[in-house]
Amino acid sequence: PVVLENLGKRFGEGAPVLDDVNATIGKGEFVALLGASGCGKSTLLNIMAGLELPTSGALEVPSDGAAFMFQDSALFPWLTARENVELALKLRGVGKAERRVKAAELLELVHLAEAADRRPHELSGGMRQRVALARSLAQDRQLLLMDEPFAALDAITRDLLHDELERIWKETGRTIVFVTHNVREAVRLGQRVLLLSSRPGRVVQEWEVTEEHRTDAGLAGQLTGVITA
Ligand code: ATP
Ligand code: MG
Repeated sequence: PVVLENLGKRFGEGAPVLDDVNATIGKGEFVALLGASGCGKSTLLNIMAGLELPTSGALEVPSDGAAFMFQDSALFPWLTARENVELALKLRGVGKAERRVKAAELLELVHLAEAADRRPHELSGGMRQRVALARSLAQDRQLLLMDEPFAALDAITRDLLHDELERIWKETGRTIVFVTHNVREAVRLGQRVLLLSSRPGRVVQEWEVTEEHRTDAGLAGQLTGVITA
């Protein structure tokens, strides 16, 4: 599991960005971390990833660390889709023959088998995020941290990727923390929504998301109200 205990973060002498954040995320859970721009979502995710240190508090993450997926795909532009995925496998120590097979499987999983030999600039934004997803799965960590991975995509592509991510989550049993400032996206994807407030960010409320919440706009409306209050 992931446990965040009284986490605080300030940069230099500035005002705290995070203050007293508490949360527990169970193995296999899909949590949406929702909050307005600038409230500290990326900072919190970076701390979970070990990219930043908290200034106070304690944190527990799975011992094998976390895979991270960014808003922009952050693919290597000179490598093809397949090579980008293979590189992640190589860094994990997977042998060459197995890398080939595994990369093909992962690209299949994100419906990109056809585009395996294209470089990032030859792919659409949605396809690039699919490669990035395959690459983060290649890292083979229990915990997958996603920082607004679909924010730059059009609504139709985003809907498709929501469906795919949900399927992949169910197939792979990953623990996912998905950061978004989009209320509808949070309700669409999260089993639970954690709402981080602004100034200074802390988890203020959390909601269990039911199937009804996904189809009626009630919870989304309520969350929007809390965020804009
Ligand atoms: P967005 O939705 O726009 O991505 P966010 O919720 O992810 O926003 P953060 O990027 O975590 O917000 O930033 C939270 C606050 O911390 C902001 O005020 C930002 O200026 C500040 N901040 C983030 N990183 C640093 C840093 N390395 N040094 C100083 N201040 C920082
Ligand atoms: Mg951010």
